Amino acid sequence: MNIVAKFGGSSLASAEQFKKVADIIRADNDRRFVVPSAPGKRNDDDDKVTDLLYSAYEHAAAGLEYKPIMEKIKNRYKDIIKGLELDLSLDEEFDTIEDLFIKKAGKEYAASRGEYLNGIIMSRYMDFPFIDAAKVIFFNEDGTFDSEYTDRVLSKTLEGLEHAVIPGFYGADHSGNIRTFSRGGSDITGSIVSRAARADMYENWTDVSGFLVTDPRIIRQPEVIDTITYRELRELSYMGASVLHEEAVFPVALKKIPIQIRNTNKPEDVGTIINNSDEGAFKHIITGIAGKKDFSIITIRKVHMSNEVGLIRKALSVFEDYNVSIEHIPSGVDSFSVVVETKAVKPFVYELMGKLKKATSAGEVTLTSEISLIATVGLGMKNYKGLSGRLFSAIGKAGINIVVISQTSDEINIIVGVHNSDYEKTIRTIYYEFNPQ
Ligand code: ASP
Repeated sequence: MNIVAKFGGSSLASAEQFKKVADIIRADNDRRFVVPSAPGKRNDDDDKVTDLLYSAYEHAAAGLEYKPIMEKIKNRYKDIIKGLELDLSLDEEFDTIEDLFIKKAGKEYAASRGEYLNGIIMSRYMDFPFIDAAKVIFFNEDGTFDSEYTDRVLSKTLEGLEHAVIPGFYGADHSGNIRTFSRGGSDITGSIVSRAARADMYENWTDVSGFLVTDPRIIRQPEVIDTITYRELRELSYMGASVLHEEAVFPVALKKIPIQIRNTNKPEDVGTIINNSDEGAFKHIITGIAGKKDFSIITIRKVHMSNEVGLIRKALSVFEDYNVSIEHIPSGVDSFSVVVETKAVKPFVYELMGKLKKATSAGEVTLTSEISLIATVGLGMKNYKGLSGRLFSAIGKAGINIVVISQTSDEINIIVGVHNSDYEKTIRTIYYEFNPQ
């Protein structure tokens, strides 16, 4: 077996957490490549080192007092090194960092140092070689990830290495400037390393025991999803279920490597396996429920619309002119609706509606706001006859008015739009319909 293990910020927030991580790595020699994040919060009131780095850099670049923030960062690492009883000093590293801050090396450089320094500590503590991500993970000049070149260089670098530590979150462009992924991006590095190492499993260690069927703020202790497919996960993550960075599925999906979400604080829990095959997908009728508030629905009504070629295109080009991204386009015979995030249209929504009316010669253009979208996701749904009927009737029986429905033809996802005030109730209704107490 060949396992890549990525550890999140809370798993590496203190020496105590580092020790748990080391026990996990040592428990299985197949855990060959380790991808650490920067130290996260030790408690709710604490700071993430990445946030401190951004802040210190902004202060330094603006010529403001940044030393107290830098001191906080240094102390975080000092505490970890001391707690691990390591003979290691990061003083020289910090001198370089401060020097480059003053020379305005950029906020991506600044943020990346959290992972870089944690990687140095991890490599020393585990006695594994350290690979600077700037040498093996590449970005194009426009900031997009250069996946093929990275895979070539990284797989060559890992070849023949029994173990290594590769810090998460950053890499470098082809001119050598440090670049980062978006926040939470160490998950992406873990996936890239798994692909390059041709791993059998990408373990993603965090502080929860896997994906929950739904939001625990709405349902107390929902069940943990044991297996989920990439496709289902994409649907759920898009709608707001966040344990793993959205983009982390792509590199491993290319090689069909499963991801296992596991809990550093409860290593005995099996967590959730994210699979590229449909195996296990049909155990449950539905896999998960996720949702988001604050959407707007703009409805365009026009008699005999269905006979008119190009009408939707005309409408969509108006949205394009305003640079608004569209979530769904449910349609009927004489009308269709465009669902968008409220914040994306708010400043100009009436102007946009006027332009829509003109562009489509519609009879009526109306707006419904304060809508929540709730996605019920599951590959098992398509084999279950009458599922949508059961879902809609449960929602109806609960006295909730469904404003809009959207379902893709692959039947992996049914989305209902309800008023924001019905959001929590709708999630509860769907959850208990399929997970009776
Ligand atoms: N340290 C980075 C962040 O806080 C990346 C990560 O933790 O994955 O966003």
